[in-house]
Amino acid sequence: MSDRSRNRGGAPARPTSARRTTSSTAMRAVFLLVVVALVLGLMMSATQVRAQGATTAPSTTPGPSAGAPAETPAGRPPEVIFDSPSATGSLTTPIVFTTTFQAPEEPIRVELLTRLAGGTSDLVREAAVSREPSGAWTATVSQVGFTPPNTRYEYRFRAVTPDGPVTGPTGELRIVDDRFDWRTLEGDGITLHWYAGDDAFAARALRIGEDAIRNAAELLGVQEVAPVDFLVYDSPEALYGAMGPGTREHVGGQANSATRTLIGTIRTSDVASDWVDTLVTHELTHIVFSDATDNPYHQPPRWLNEGLAVYLSEGYGVGDRAQVAGAAANGTLIPLSGIAGLFPTTYERFSLAYAESVSAVDFFIDRYGRDTLVRLITSYHDGVTDDEAFLAATGQDADAFDDAWLEAQGAQRPRPYGPQPAPPGPIPSDWVTGDPAVAP
Ligand SMILES: [Zn+2]
Repeated sequence: MSDRSRNRGGAPARPTSARRTTSSTAMRAVFLLVVVALVLGLMMSATQVRAQGATTAPSTTPGPSAGAPAETPAGRPPEVIFDSPSATGSLTTPIVFTTTFQAPEEPIRVELLTRLAGGTSDLVREAAVSREPSGAWTATVSQVGFTPPNTRYEYRFRAVTPDGPVTGPTGELRIVDDRFDWRTLEGDGITLHWYAGDDAFAARALRIGEDAIRNAAELLGVQEVAPVDFLVYDSPEALYGAMGPGTREHVGGQANSATRTLIGTIRTSDVASDWVDTLVTHELTHIVFSDATDNPYHQPPRWLNEGLAVYLSEGYGVGDRAQVAGAAANGTLIPLSGIAGLFPTTYERFSLAYAESVSAVDFFIDRYGRDTLVRLITSYHDGVTDDEAFLAATGQDADAFDDAWLEAQGAQRPRPYGPQPAPPGPIPSDWVTGDPAVAP
């Protein structure tokens, strides 16, 4: 019962929670997919080496319908001629890429190259190849695992032959969440997809989204924010279905910067409430934050990302202040270094992590000003470490800021949990030499 929408109409999960706290904790978006995207990115980087190494021949060979066949470096027509590829699948049905091609004999191997739309590197997978009675060849790749809704692929097949590689035409596939009948409303830089609620709700959510992108982009100096899609679900269960297996609890929304897709829960009973404003602004802030800090080396601390999203969508509210003060008083405050990566999983600690995040951002602005916060955030775009970023912005490293924030809350840095040095045990007699200079 952690989601705000579930709490509505009933008692809050905790009596001390102000309504604002409940709302802020409910829409705590988790960047799991960003992590997934990073891993995927690494995989793609690895496979790109293969792709680049193999592209000494013409990069594409048009299909038979696209005119004269391309030539190989030797001036001979390619031995492999691809037809247009096709792909099927959705959120609830298997994703299968397939193509047919003509070739006098089976290539050494046939590969499927996929990339996220607009991406720059391919994931390369080997296709299963079979020959039909007609003599034509078929190559197929079935995708395993969960693929988030609104993922858009550009894909093509490549045959590796003794004369070099031959690449077929490119197809596109968008993964649709086919559990619902979606309606769409296109705005300036954002397209809203929804299936529950009326036109007025969609228009309002879209307007909030446009404002949120403009405000965050202006603050962080992002010149052009590429279009984003926002999928609105009407229940946590529906939302979790869009996030796949292993989804963490307590999540009310999620921003996937790799697919530029936001998903979130807005119950139909909530469409008139300020929850719409909070959720939409929070998630879109993540996308702009991601644009402002994008680099292949080092992600900013999570508390900075979430702290800004909470700060811009609802401010440092009384509920969050109470949580931080309470944790500081009883010695359970998590140092910022402890919420630089994934947040805790239990509800109380998860909720506290968000409260601390916005507290730290609020503290930073109090001490150094908004412009310095923006400078800090945008410096991550250069791939700097946390210490480099904080040193450049504040003159002190990340730990010093952590300490200053803890001190401002009236808290001590807690002793870390985890492995501690083992107590010394008896020394085996064979290890004792009798020479006090070498005895342990
Ligand atoms: Zn968030």
